[in-house]
Amino acid sequence: MKAFEYATALSPSSARDLIADNGAYIAGGNDLLGRLKEYLDAPARLVNIKAIPGLDTIQYGDDCWTIGSLVTIATLEKDEKIRSALPGLHQAAAEIASPQIRNVATVGGNLAQHSRCWYYRQRDVQCLKKNGDLCYARNSDNRYHSLFSGNDCISPVVSSLGATFAALDATAVVLSGGQELRWSMAEFYADAWKMHLAHNSLKPGDLILRVEIPLSRPRSAYLQASDKHVFDWALVSCAAAADYVDGKLVSPRVALGSISPVPHQMDKANQFLEGKPLDSTTVAHAADLLLANARPLEHNAYKVPMAHALICRTLLKLKG
Ligand SMILES: Cc1cc2nc3c(=O)[nH]c(=O)nc-3n(C[C@H](O)[C@H](O)[C@H](O)COP(=O)(O)OP(=O)(O)OC[C@H]3O[C@@H](n4cnc5c(N)ncnc54)[C@H](O)[C@@H]3O)c2cc1C
Ligand code: SF4
Repeated sequence: MKAFEYATALSPSSARDLIADNGAYIAGGNDLLGRLKEYLDAPARLVNIKAIPGLDTIQYGDDCWTIGSLVTIATLEKDEKIRSALPGLHQAAAEIASPQIRNVATVGGNLAQHSRCWYYRQRDVQCLKKNGDLCYARNSDNRYHSLFSGNDCISPVVSSLGATFAALDATAVVLSGGQELRWSMAEFYADAWKMHLAHNSLKPGDLILRVEIPLSRPRSAYLQASDKHVFDWALVSCAAAADYVDGKLVSPRVALGSISPVPHQMDKANQFLEGKPLDSTTVAHAADLLLANARPLEHNAYKVPMAHALICRTLLKLKG
């Protein structure tokens, strides 16, 4: 890795000042340090944000819970209130990587982690996402890639929390240019849909402060399928959230990870599920709607039936 300066920020505004034009924020470092070692990034300065007060706490409001961007995945996994009120979030956190990684990995770093495409992660491959002129995955080994994309890069978003927050209709609060922006998960990843260079919508210097989760969906669930049982990213992940009143779904939301550059959601599917009972015919039709426009590549067609099964199983888990 290239030499860099190191500075510790004590407030969000000092973090912005310290990062200057060519710095990078470091939280748990699980993603960033790998990128530095592989020469994918060469920031002039690393700005440690872990000493910024207040970003490592969870606030339990009456209608909305606020999770600071420095809260670790292990905290999400172990928090008893989250386990009971937001079981889908607990399940997503518990599936991430390994206990050691979860102990240091943060919510902000998880949302902002870069592509896991193996061509992107190889230092000598200069693909589209690294300002090259070719997507190596498109006509090559694309078994881990997207079923949907809005641009020529087919690398999917792999953040399990991104999909789960999308299903929970959470808002990311981002400090950008001195202002607090409030983004849905669709907005947080919108640039990755539109532009092959982007991993998310953050601009240089933008700092994720917190994620706000409304408590209007007391039922939630998360499932993923991976090559390995632990210590692996998902081949496909699925999160669902809703209320379930008198045997009928209220405000249902389904979001999938690892099949699109954004958490994959379809309004049509959510609208179809509204007011429906949870049975096998209903969930199968919702899965059909979610996957109707999937465009499998040579090696990832297996993701379509896998996603279909995960959607059905995740939705049925909302029954309790
Ligand atoms: C073997 C393995 C398996 C894994 N499996 C999964 C999985 O199944 N699902 C999953 O979701 N993840 C998985 N991960 C990824 C892991 O969860 C992320 O790497 C980790 O959460 C990143 O958090 P961090 O705090 O270490 O981020 P860092 O490495 O510190 O930062 C990551 C990126 O986010 C930026 N950043 C960090 N915090 C902020 C902030 N507050 N504002 C703006 N930018 C910020 C950094 O500049 C950097 O670009 C896996 C990782 C490994 C090694
Ligand atoms: S999928 Fe994206 S990251 Fe992977 S090789 Fe193609 S352009 Fe690069």
